Amino acid sequence: MNVELQIKTLTEQLNQYAKEYYTLDNPSVEDAEYDRLYRELAKLESENPNLIRADSPTHRTGDVVLSGFEKYTHEYQLYSLQDAFSREEVEAFDARVRKEIAAPEYICELKIDGLSLSLVYVNGVLQTAATRGDGSIGENITEQVKRIKDVPLVLSEPIDIVVRGEAYLPRKNFQKLNAAREEEGLPSFANPRNAAAGTLRQLDTKVVAKRGLATFLYQEASPATNATQAEVLTYFEKLGLVVNDQRVFATNMTEIWDFIQKVATMRDDLAYDIDGVVIKVNDLSQQDELGFTVKFPKWAIAYKFPAELAETEILSVDWTV
Ligand code: NAD
Repeated sequence: MNVELQIKTLTEQLNQYAKEYYTLDNPSVEDAEYDRLYRELAKLESENPNLIRADSPTHRTGDVVLSGFEKYTHEYQLYSLQDAFSREEVEAFDARVRKEIAAPEYICELKIDGLSLSLVYVNGVLQTAATRGDGSIGENITEQVKRIKDVPLVLSEPIDIVVRGEAYLPRKNFQKLNAAREEEGLPSFANPRNAAAGTLRQLDTKVVAKRGLATFLYQEASPATNATQAEVLTYFEKLGLVVNDQRVFATNMTEIWDFIQKVATMRDDLAYDIDGVVIKVNDLSQQDELGFTVKFPKWAIAYKFPAELAETEILSVDWTV
C-alpha cells in the first residue's frame, strides 16, 4: 500500500473507532489497539507532513457531540494529554520541560479512566456541567451531573470558577449494573468507562441517580486563583469538590518512575479504574510559560499502563532499570 493510501485508511479507521468510543460509548476495539494505530498514523504523518488529512485524529480532540443534547460552548478549551508508553518517552518529556524550566517540580496524579467533565460554578452555585466533546463544544449534561451525589450543587465559597475533572463509575457499581443488565437480558457494558459515558447520556435522570457515578476534580480551567497545581487541589477540597488523594511531588525521573511503579502494583486494589499516571509541572506560571500545542498542554504527559492482558507479564519486569 502506498503511504497516501495508508494514511487515508488509518485516518478513516481511527475516526470510526473514535466515533464508537466517544459518541456511541460502544468501542469495537481495545484502547491498546486504538493507541497502536494512532501511533502508526502519527509516525507516517511526521514523515510525510504534506499528506496529513484535514480530518486527522492527531489534530483533533474527542469527537462530535450527540444530537439530542444541547450543545455547550466551553469558555476555556479542554485539551487532551500527550501519551507516553515507556520510561524513555517520559524522560523525553522531562528533557523538553528542562529546556525551558531549569529545575521543574512535578506533581504526579492518577489518570482516572472515566469521562472528562467541565463544571461551571457561578457565585458558588453549579450552573452548567458539560462533556469535553471536541474540546471547544461539548454536550450540556447539567441535569445528569446534578444526580451525581458527590458533585456539590453549592460550593463552600460564593465564587465564579470553572473546574475540570473526571466522572467515573466505581468498580463495585459497575459490577452491580452489569449483573442487573444481564438479568434483564440487556447487553453488558464493556468497561466502567463506557458505562459512565453511557450513563451520563441518559435522558432519564433517575437512571443516572441510580447507577452511582462519582467524580474526581483535578484542574482549574478559569484563570488560576492559586500558584501551584497542589494548591489548586487543596483549594478544591476546601470548596467541597472531590479530589483524588493519591499524588506525589517529584523532581527527577527516578521519583516519577518510583511512583508509576507503586501505582502499577496497587492498581488492581483501587475502587475505580485508572489507565495511567499524569505527570504535571506543579508551578502554574511555569505551565503558562510552557503553553500548549494544538491538542496537548506541553506541561503534562500521561504515562499509560500497558494493556490489561499484558499486565502480569509487564509487572514482572524489573522497573528500576
Ligand atoms: P486520554 O484519555 O488519553 O487523556 C486525556 C484525558 O485524561 C483528559 O481529557 C482527562 O479527562 C483525563 N484525565 C484523567 N485523570 C486526569 C488527571 N489526573 N489529570 C488530567 N487529566 C486526567 O485522552 P483522550 O483524548 O480522552 O482519549 C484518547 C484515548 O482514548 C486513546 O489513547 C485511547 O486509549 C482511547 N480511545 C479508544 C478508542 C477505542 O476504540 N477503543 C477510540 C478512541 C479513543
